[in-house]
Amino acid sequence: LITFRDVWKTYQMGEVQVNALQNVSVSIDRGEFAAIIGPSGSGKSTMMNLVGCLDIPSDGEIFLKSRNISEMTESDLSTLRGKTIGFVFQQYNLIPGMTALENVLLPLEIQEFEDNIAMERAKEALEMVGLSDKLNNRPSQLSGGQQQRVSIARSLACDPELILADEPTGALDSKTGREVMNILQRLWKERGKTVVMVTHDMDLAQYAERHIVLKDGQIVRDEPNDIFSEDLSRTKFADINMQK
Ligand code: ATP
Ligand code: MG
Repeated sequence: LITFRDVWKTYQMGEVQVNALQNVSVSIDRGEFAAIIGPSGSGKSTMMNLVGCLDIPSDGEIFLKSRNISEMTESDLSTLRGKTIGFVFQQYNLIPGMTALENVLLPLEIQEFEDNIAMERAKEALEMVGLSDKLNNRPSQLSGGQQQRVSIARSLACDPELILADEPTGALDSKTGREVMNILQRLWKERGKTVVMVTHDMDLAQYAERHIVLKDGQIVRDEPNDIFSEDLSRTKFADINMQK
């Protein structure tokens, strides 16, 4: 789905060059659930911005659905991104003056879905995250976990193949964080979404089946999560989660 080939990302800070990513080559296939892990400043958000095609590499190539993003026009890229990728942010980025439903409708309107189809999809997305009873609440009338679920519903509205989440639980307590992880895991397991998330928290990284570890802008480890590799079925893993 996404391939990095010898990707560098360099930021110029006055006289100083910061190599946020150095020679990163990696592929993420359809149907994967990957966690990007690593210390602060290791390049996780930089990598996510590139995976999400919100930025282009300083050197090397990135392919989204086999298309080289550096060779696409901004408007083609923006269309491809809108159709393919849903974003979930640490700070939710909901619009305060709008209800949960209106927030989820927004990307559907941008993609110019017909009103009745947009309404149907938005309600379905909110149902998927368990918020059918909060359609008319504004963000200020929702808990942090509920706000993050609205933002997940918004990311799902246009039915993207890929969901990208940068520290989706960063602003949540650990119990609410696990609820959000459960939702992401269900989207992967039951809806076949490809999910890539960033987390600091090794406990939460256990929800993913692949761990990509960054250090100083380089991938230092990339391996299947033990829980998934020890020949445990996904169903069994679900049981483990229940017992937590
Ligand atoms: P954190 O866990 O704190 O979010 P991170 O792993 O997401 O960290 P990045 O935000 O990717 O780290 O930053 C990687 C490096 O690039 C850091 O040294 C950072 O200072 C630098 N950097 C990131 N964005 C910019 C920018 N827009 N301009 C200049 N330097 C930047
Ligand atoms: Mg970051």
